[in-house]
Amino acid sequence: MVHFSPLAFTLKPRHSWVQLAGHTAEGSFTAGDGGRLLKRYCECEQQCLEQLMKDVLRPYVPGYYGVLQKDEQDFNIMDDLLTDFDMPSIMDCKMGSRTCLEEELIKAKECQRLRRDMYEKMISVDPAAPTEEERAQQGVLKPRYMRWRETLSSTATLGFRIEGIKKGDGSCNTSFKKTKQREQVVKAFEDFVDGNVQILKSYLKRLEELRSVLEKSDFFRTHEVVGSSLLFVHDASGKASVWMIDFGKTVPLPPSMTLDHRTPWVEGNREDGYLWGMDNLIDIFGSMLPR
Ligand code: ATP
Ligand code: MG
Ligand code: MG
Repeated sequence: MVHFSPLAFTLKPRHSWVQLAGHTAEGSFTAGDGGRLLKRYCECEQQCLEQLMKDVLRPYVPGYYGVLQKDEQDFNIMDDLLTDFDMPSIMDCKMGSRTCLEEELIKAKECQRLRRDMYEKMISVDPAAPTEEERAQQGVLKPRYMRWRETLSSTATLGFRIEGIKKGDGSCNTSFKKTKQREQVVKAFEDFVDGNVQILKSYLKRLEELRSVLEKSDFFRTHEVVGSSLLFVHDASGKASVWMIDFGKTVPLPPSMTLDHRTPWVEGNREDGYLWGMDNLIDIFGSMLPR
């Protein structure tokens, strides 16, 4: 039998996945030793992963093993979640009702410059999007543009959006930027699980477990969690699981402040809609099971 090194085997599909996802710079990920993965260093992510290793959420995030320097670049070392799967199907769902941090919005607000480029992008996607005033000015403010972009996908309406799906057969789809309606999301999920009810049930069970642990987690209560994803992985053997990944924009709250992750966001309350998105995700998976 030909022996595939698990890393060489898993890294290849993921690498194309990462590139196709579009947001991730080439070279952000590289193979580590023994089923581990190196992700380009980000201090914020390091802090989160360190704390998560001591939190009740630990079984739901990749194991974290510190920092490694390689070719003058620092990396966070973590478990490769795909190693125990054979030709896995993978889905990345970005959680939350907004994808920019409050501090990013505040920064964008300080700059009162009207952005013509953003106005142009806006009308190229939806000519009806600008207000009268914006139309007259032929420009939009950056925070307004950032928020508008989130209304294109299901981020603003369901509290999560699909970033990409790569199936075991190699097919890959990352064009979900305008997947907004619940029916479109259901279709994408159905295609992802190929109608396999057992896999659907396993995902649902894991999501329900994760939700109840999130509700008890000290880490979760005390962090604004933005731009973080749930990574869904299954393979033909029927094994299926979900993990939380990507803590590059997960930031601690000021002392004594906590979030419930369900209250709608208004500026200043830091709410991220993560659990609201989780409720919707669970509801959708549940509705897909045969009655
Ligand atoms: P962005 O912020 O644009 O979403 P990023 O550079 O922060 O990207 P991640 O979102 O952490 O990168 O990861 C990108 C992709 O890499 C994920 O969608 C997933 O397919 C894969 N990936 C990330 N972490 C792991 C892991 N621990 N095990 C397996 N695959 C992973
Ligand atoms: Mg990500
Ligand atoms: Mg990220």
